[in-house]
Amino acid sequence: MNTSVIGYPRIGKDRELKFASEKYFRSEISEEELLSVAKEIRKKDLLKQKKAGITYISSNDFSFYDNVLDTAFLFNIIPQRYKDLNLSDIGTYFAMARGYQGDNGNVKALALKKWFNTNYHYLVPEIDDDTEISLTGTKPVDEFVEAKELGVDTKVAVVGPFTFLKLAKFTGSKKITDAYPALTAEYIKLISLLASKGAEFIEFDEPYLVRDLAENDIDLFKEIYSLILSNKNGIKVLLQTYFGDIRDIYNEVISLDFDAVGLDFIEGRKTAELVEKNGFPSDKILFAGVVNGKNIWKNDYKKTLDILKSINADNIVISTSCSLLHVPYTLTSETKLDEEYKKHFAFAEEKLVELIELADLSGLDYENDDVFKYNQSLFNGRANSEDKDVQARVAAITDEDYVKLPVFEEREKIQKEELKLPLFPTTTIGSFPQTSDVRKNRQDFRKGLISKEEYVEFNKKKIKECIKLQEEIGLDVLVHGEFERNDMVEYFGENLNGYVFTEKAWVQSYGTRNVKPPIIWGDVSRKSPITVEWSKYAKSCTDKPVKGMLTGPVTILNWSFPREDISIKESILQIALAIRDEVLDLEANGINIIQIDEAALREKLPLRKSDWYSEYLDFAIPAFRLVHSKVSPKTQIHTHMCYSEFTDIIPAIDAMDADVITFEASRSDLQILDSLKENNFKTEVGPGVYDIHSPRVPSVEEIVSALTKMRSKIEDSKLWVNPDCGLKTRGEEETGKSLRNLVEAAHQIRG
Ligand code: GLN
Ligand code: ZN
Repeated sequence: MNTSVIGYPRIGKDRELKFASEKYFRSEISEEELLSVAKEIRKKDLLKQKKAGITYISSNDFSFYDNVLDTAFLFNIIPQRYKDLNLSDIGTYFAMARGYQGDNGNVKALALKKWFNTNYHYLVPEIDDDTEISLTGTKPVDEFVEAKELGVDTKVAVVGPFTFLKLAKFTGSKKITDAYPALTAEYIKLISLLASKGAEFIEFDEPYLVRDLAENDIDLFKEIYSLILSNKNGIKVLLQTYFGDIRDIYNEVISLDFDAVGLDFIEGRKTAELVEKNGFPSDKILFAGVVNGKNIWKNDYKKTLDILKSINADNIVISTSCSLLHVPYTLTSETKLDEEYKKHFAFAEEKLVELIELADLSGLDYENDDVFKYNQSLFNGRANSEDKDVQARVAAITDEDYVKLPVFEEREKIQKEELKLPLFPTTTIGSFPQTSDVRKNRQDFRKGLISKEEYVEFNKKKIKECIKLQEEIGLDVLVHGEFERNDMVEYFGENLNGYVFTEKAWVQSYGTRNVKPPIIWGDVSRKSPITVEWSKYAKSCTDKPVKGMLTGPVTILNWSFPREDISIKESILQIALAIRDEVLDLEANGINIIQIDEAALREKLPLRKSDWYSEYLDFAIPAFRLVHSKVSPKTQIHTHMCYSEFTDIIPAIDAMDADVITFEASRSDLQILDSLKENNFKTEVGPGVYDIHSPRVPSVEEIVSALTKMRSKIEDSKLWVNPDCGLKTRGEEETGKSLRNLVEAAHQIRG
């Protein structure tokens, strides 16, 4: 069998692209130097795949920042405000990606959005009435030729026109229906240009097809591709889908003149069924996505070979399920991780081997093959990963554990009496500025340069100062400042059993930003109290209430590489029990307000709305309740979310049954408040009154005016006053000023 890779990581094995780009942004290296670093990365990545023996290798999967932005740039979909800067090509490109502030002007970047259900973010193209769609770029052609010169014949991967248009924002009066003919015509030009350079295969990535599609979406898709497919210029066309199944359009897809269709058998729950029921045409190649492009576990060859055997198609290519962009480069960079762990993992480079081994095995009577046998030996239980106590605890969870009593309305009364907070209580989201001394303290401790005592002493000093500052500013509910954490998930992961950490397993999040998600290796439990000492100490410094600060189970799971041998639901429950232990310990130590952050709750909402509850919210929301259901009604539970786009899941958010929720509202139009009102949202709310993502200090008047608007939608007794997220990225000076204005605004409103 032949093999295919949809896309390869592109940041460089040692994050070379990040470092070179950042140097370029600081004007420390020239454009030429940056281009040559990029060229070297592409070369290494291509040759790696070629050497492994992959049949269909992609070119144009590289990007300096983002491949949706590349596509916009390729077709001259560049808003005038960026053109007006009169920068070089790459200067304009980076201005769209990151904004520009300098001699030539001052413009913000394009909006950044999550790429489907991944932690990767793309830039949202803008199409306005003046946009002249036209093939002005050459990137796919150049990178195809470059690969060819290296001796690698590639399929050229491009973001497909349908997905591109569906993700674009139309800012003028034009709509998709006005824009698609021109865009399609330019894609056709691209095909002919590629044909003239000797390209044989073009891959159109159309992940949007895995979402719920309306009738007019299906018509649009058919319209676009009928045009493209009648102008193939001798090039073979692969329609590549991923992140799910294409149940709404499968039959239309297979009846079009594609030469090959890529389907995802990992995340596509219905993919196998679709192929079985409707058949697959014998004149097309089926690219079967069976090697997971999103997770880092070894492929279970038995399972995969069974799937491959069951597919009723004449011509199958073994493929990754999506681009390998979402996994780290290679396990060979992990020098500290024990082989006991490593043998169970496959990063991008190791997945190439898997593709080849699967291709080899698929033709054989593999049961007795050594490669197969070794692979299967990895799935006979992982040493040290099981914890019977944890499993028993999860099994013993009863319906009651998900229910908090008394009900919200009664708790609200009890808490008002107990806490005696003023109307419009003021608070912050948790972290205070992480100044260089704070980071240095953590680093020095990590490197063993200072003792545990010194490390703790320093943090205590910081906590004491932080409490003093908040008292002096006049905030009502104080926090300890989170000086011990660099990351809200990593910190908890490090203090939980069952987690494994990597050294260099970076994955691109957006542009030059990469994340290093921890791996959930085994059953998760809490080693010992995690935050209790810090919170207790903070409380000892003041008579005011101090809010304990935790990360919730859904966010911890969503920002880790999850296990594949147990369900997400099971994993979330394990983490929930661990965090619940922490909640109860905080309470036992006198902390009577506890915030459980769920910054990433929305991220893993299934791509199809019809799956939202059954596949996710039906266990994610109860898992959150499990964390706090057993505290006394006197203990007030807060939660925080970094966005306000939950208009469509307000009942689910209310069902978390927290007492207070703070969220981002300062940048949105406060429309969320109307929805809260319409849905009779019961939880008390703190819609952020100013944007912490900017160093700007909000004036008292501004905050008063925001609060006045909020009061028209939210009962006074339910309204909290706080910034919209943690303050850790802010400077001390602006933070002090902003919070003083916030407190002053609350005073004025109370008056
Ligand atoms: N408590 C965290 C903080 O204040 C919350 C961070 C977040 O929501 N991303 O930093
Ligand atoms: Zn936040």
